[in-house]
This record gives sequence, C-alpha cells and structure tokens, in this order.
Amino acid sequence: DGPELFAPERRNSKGFDIAHMATLRQLDRNREEFATSTWTAGPMLAKEPQGGAADTAEDVINPARPGDVVGQVQWSTPKDVETALIAAEVWKAPAGDRARILRRAADLYEAHHAELFALLSREAGKTLADAVAELREAVDFLRYYAANAPDHAPVGTFACISPWNFPLAIFTGQLSAALAAGNAVLAKPAEQTPLIAARAIALLHEAGVPRSALQLLPGAGDVGAALTSDPRVGGVAFTGGTDTARLIRKSMAENLTPGAPLIAETGGLNAMIVDSTALPEQAVGAVIESAFQSAGQRCSALRCLYVQEDIAEDFRTLLIGAMDQLRQGDPWQIGTDVGPVIDAEAQQAIAVYIDTARRGGRILHEGKTPDAGHFIAPTLLSVRSIAEMEREIFGPVLHLATFRADELDQVITDINATGFGLTFGLQTRIDDRVQHVSDRIHAGNIYVNRNQIGAIVGSQPFGGEGLSGTGPKAGGPLYLSRFTRGSVPRQAA
Ligand code: GLU
Repeated sequence: DGPELFAPERRNSKGFDIAHMATLRQLDRNREEFATSTWTAGPMLAKEPQGGAADTAEDVINPARPGDVVGQVQWSTPKDVETALIAAEVWKAPAGDRARILRRAADLYEAHHAELFALLSREAGKTLADAVAELREAVDFLRYYAANAPDHAPVGTFACISPWNFPLAIFTGQLSAALAAGNAVLAKPAEQTPLIAARAIALLHEAGVPRSALQLLPGAGDVGAALTSDPRVGGVAFTGGTDTARLIRKSMAENLTPGAPLIAETGGLNAMIVDSTALPEQAVGAVIESAFQSAGQRCSALRCLYVQEDIAEDFRTLLIGAMDQLRQGDPWQIGTDVGPVIDAEAQQAIAVYIDTARRGGRILHEGKTPDAGHFIAPTLLSVRSIAEMEREIFGPVLHLATFRADELDQVITDINATGFGLTFGLQTRIDDRVQHVSDRIHAGNIYVNRNQIGAIVGSQPFGGEGLSGTGPKAGGPLYLSRFTRGSVPRQAA
C-alpha cells in the first residue's frame, strides 16, 4: 500500500447552465422556496463553552433589501475562542478517508444548491450567475483538495480567516485544503457573511468531518486577532486586505512558532491593456465582465483599463453603451446583472471616492441605481495613469487611461510599480506582443483576449505576487504543501 502516485480522476462540477431556459426556470422556482427563510449562526464548537453561550444575537440584513432580515448571528466571545483552541484536534483519519468525506461534503453542497443560492443572494448580494459560479468553485475546491489529500504530517491547528466576497468558495477552499492535509480548522468567516458559513460547516459535519477538526467562530477582527496571536495556532490561511495581512504576519512573528505558515491572498490594482489591433466588441465584453460582474467586488476585478489612443474614442463610446445596458438591482431577480455592494459602510466609502472624482471632473460615465439597498452604479472615471490610483476601490468603479503605441513599455512599468500583482488582461491580435507583455508584467494570473475574473480550480490556479499575496496559488498543485509540515514520509508521520 505505497503512496498514491497519481491522484484519482477528478472532474470539475458541471454546475448549472443558466443560458438553458428550463434550468433557469427551475432555479428560479427553487429560490422561491427560500425567499423568506431565515437562518442562524453562532460559534460551532467541539465542546460546550464554559459559562454558557452569550445571548446577544444580531440581525443579518440583505444588502439589496434593507427590510429583508436573513437571519441572526451570535458572535463568538473570547471564551468561545479559548474553548475552540482547547477542543481542536488534528484529523487523524487516513488521507483516503478524509478525501472520501470531503467528496461527500461536495455532494451535499450540490444537493443543497437551492438553499446555498438563496443564502449567497440574500446574505451576500450575489446575482444568480455569481451564485452558480461560486457554488461550483466551492465544490471544485472540495474535490480538488480531496483528490490530492496528502499523507504528510499536518501543521496542527489552522486558523482560516475568509472574506465576504466569496463567502462560500474561498471559505470552503481554505478550510478544505487545511482539512485535506489533516489539520484542525478554526474558521473565522467575514462578519458580513456568517450565515452561509454556518450552513456550510453543518454540511461538512454531516459529511463526516469530526467536530474537533472543524469549528466555527463567527466574529469581527478581534476574533481573528485572538487566533493569529495564539501560540497554539500552527498556521494561518487568510484572504482579505493587504494591510490586515501585514498585521497578521506581525502578530504571527511575535507569537507563533517561527515556521508557522501564512497563506495570504490579498488585494490588487489590476489592469488591462487594449491595443489598437484588439477586437473591440470582444474587448468591451471582457471589460464589462471584469470590472462590473460581482459589482466589482473581486480581488481579480479590473480596476484600470488602458486603451491605445488611436481607438480610444470609439472604444469609450462602445463601453459606455454597454454600461448603459447593465441592469442593476435586486440580485434575487434573474434579469439583474449587477447587485449591491456588501454593506452601508462599503457603499459610503465608494460614494465618497466617486464624489472626489466628480469634483475633479473625472467622471466619464455613471449609471443610475435603485433607491433602496446598498447600490453603487457602475462608474467610469478617467485617469492619466495607474500611478494616480493609490488603493484598491472594491466596487463597480473602472478607471480609464489611454496610451500611445510608443508608450507600451512605460505602461507596463507603471502597472508593475503599483507593487500589486494579481490579475492582468491583454487584448491584442499581435502574437509577439502577447509574449512581450506577459514576460514583463508581474501578475499571478494573466489573461489574453478574454475577461480576467473567474479562475477555474485545477486549470487556472489563482493567486498573486508582491502586495497581492504570498502564494502558493489556490486550486493549484502547490497549495496543499503549505498546509503540511513538509515532505514527511508516511511511515514517519
Ligand atoms: N478567484 C476569483 C476570481 O478569479 C477572485 C477571488 C477573490 O476575489 O478573492 O475571480
């Protein structure tokens, strides 16, 4: 019974083809089933906390419809964190058994698709297309890491700190990698999206993941800070802002063992270059998807578009025309292209940014938004260069710059000078240029003549360099190795 040389065959999830009318109608009927359901979330611990649970539940509100209460969350207390740390036990089952259980969890996720779509929509503001893609990615992560579950020694207890923008896919991706490698997981979901996290954990437990290997600690930054400063934590997986990643790194350096791994996926200032040979309609479609799908709330989203001067005017007209076609509104409606941003705070911060641009006369186009709900209209701003952009604006705001043919290398230099390096898009029909540009751009994921979002597990490992993350890429062959204590042979493990 030697080590498995080849991972068992694995296919990505089929998902749902929403261009197929019958599927679309079925999904719509399914969603109605959960239109008024409510859910609850709270700490999910392997032992009873000392002193009983806190009794301060807070409402979770639909970002698109302030009157829609999606459920209640009970935040974790410091006692809950302590209980979870004491109760955490590495998952000792052989790799094959762990893999089987994770695959069962993937099947359960698929079986509960209607409920998960409802949660993605009502708690996180996801459109149906986004929800379908997100569930598929979550399922793919489970099966991909299951297929590659190593028999090496786990690190120990892993803190998995995940973002609200992929409350199912990234949440599941982090913890399934940690579990596939046999770690004990303490999962801290984003405070905006605890309900879907709790539902996912329940499905993972139902599939057979032991409670001591998987506990949930809903909470704000204080819970994350408690976890990343506790020497009983062996490693941290984090997706979120670059500044938070720095704080985590600092706290880990001070409190955890020197070798404790930090796997961080952070922000981006992603660019696309469209040269004068690009197919305009194709490029406009790719820009619309990259900048405005998921209301621009992806780390991979396009922030700064460079269009070659010769075609810039026509291109801008086409782009604005396409922006005007976008339908913004309740993501629960099937005709909606762009949903809300995540909460009032995000809406306010983005609105302030747009107001500043307005005062500077830099607005090229601004759509209309629904009155209620946390919406920001898809907006196009002008910039001279990406160098003017100081930070990532996490919403449907696209910056447009132009360049002359002889400025291409300067544009590449400016893009690299941001220090970020997550995604990059290129639209050209010059073969040599593809090579020239991709050899020089620093980005984890480079996409040519297509959109630059929606990396596929197993075929497009996702992750950045520089300020965008530590690597290794999620959904790629190297990711799991960071969740083990190196190549300890199975006999010694
Ligand atoms: N993996 C996602 C994509 O390729 C982005 C993940 C993120 O926003 O953190 O679009």
